[in-house]
Amino acid sequence: MDVREHESLKTKTTMRIGGTARYFTELKSQSDVEEALAFANEKKVPLVLLGSGANTVFADGEINALVARIAASEVKVDDQRVTVDAGKNLAMLINELAEQGLDLSSLTGIPGTMGGAIFGNAGQGPKGIWIDAFVISVTALVNGEWKTFSKKQCEFRYRESWFKDQTEPVIIWSVTLEVPKKDPAEIKVEVLRLLQKRIETQPHVKTAGSCFKATADGTPAWQLIDKAGLRGYKVGGVEVSEKHANFLLNVGGGTFADVVAVTEKIKEEVPEIASIEMRLINGDGSLSD
Ligand SMILES: Cc1cc2nc3c(=O)[nH]c(=O)nc-3n(C[C@H](O)[C@H](O)[C@H](O)COP(=O)(O)OP(=O)(O)OC[C@H]3O[C@@H](n4cnc5c(N)ncnc54)[C@H](O)[C@@H]3O)c2cc1C
Repeated sequence: MDVREHESLKTKTTMRIGGTARYFTELKSQSDVEEALAFANEKKVPLVLLGSGANTVFADGEINALVARIAASEVKVDDQRVTVDAGKNLAMLINELAEQGLDLSSLTGIPGTMGGAIFGNAGQGPKGIWIDAFVISVTALVNGEWKTFSKKQCEFRYRESWFKDQTEPVIIWSVTLEVPKKDPAEIKVEVLRLLQKRIETQPHVKTAGSCFKATADGTPAWQLIDKAGLRGYKVGGVEVSEKHANFLLNVGGGTFADVVAVTEKIKEEVPEIASIEMRLINGDGSLSD
């Protein structure tokens, strides 16, 4: 395992905000994972896992942590059973499986990796299809031991999972899915339709996607933010998107403090949507709530 110091994080997450990692590494094998945990323990810093950073914003300045990006991305297909390493890019997986007549098109347009998707049960809105619909099992390192979780043990809920519930780091390493069959041409049509819908309704540059979860009754956060008159609300270089009021945009020179100020304002004005979806990482590697 190769560890670099003072690595810039700004280029590693979609919002293009963030300082440097005290330590940074890429995890290419299960033994890298074990080494990373040992390294973090030895240096007495937290381990912060990163998929592609599509839902993560780091603080400016130095993050006193070992930031570890999951870099393994092998895919094995056995009829409808697909076993995927956690670092596999979801969009690439959807396209590769489509070629083989396997249909994951309902997850089109969600940036990030398989690991990030499992962690937050990524998917469509509260009433739509989420990745858990396809999961058979998940292999992860928990309390220093490798364990394979059945779907039930993953305790998936809307944007939540058992893995996300833990306070100690859990490293999702591979996932086995059962993927339905469909004609490749039909899958491609559906992928293009869903991508087009996204382009029409969501911004996709310098954003970390949805900032807040929908409320328990399924009301989308954007509706409530919009109703509170916060569409277009801006602090420094961070703005509530005019196109989609649950997306924050870095419109130029945005900082972590700007992101926090905008989210605080939204929480204050719209208390019913206080449950944040984005992962905001403080300078000490802890999660900001
Ligand atoms: C334009 C845009 C649109 C989006 N649309 C959607 C959408 O429709 N639906 C949706 O659900 N999300 C959406 N998102 C959010 C984002 O794509 C998802 O949350 C995605 O699953 C994040 O994947 P990632 O690999 O980038 O995770 P990261 O941002 O890198 O990490 C997210 C969290 O997962 C943890 N994590 C990542 N990998 C692992 C691992 N292997 N083991 C343990 N923990 C891990 C990280 O520690 C972090 O806490 C959108 C984002 C953008 C930018």
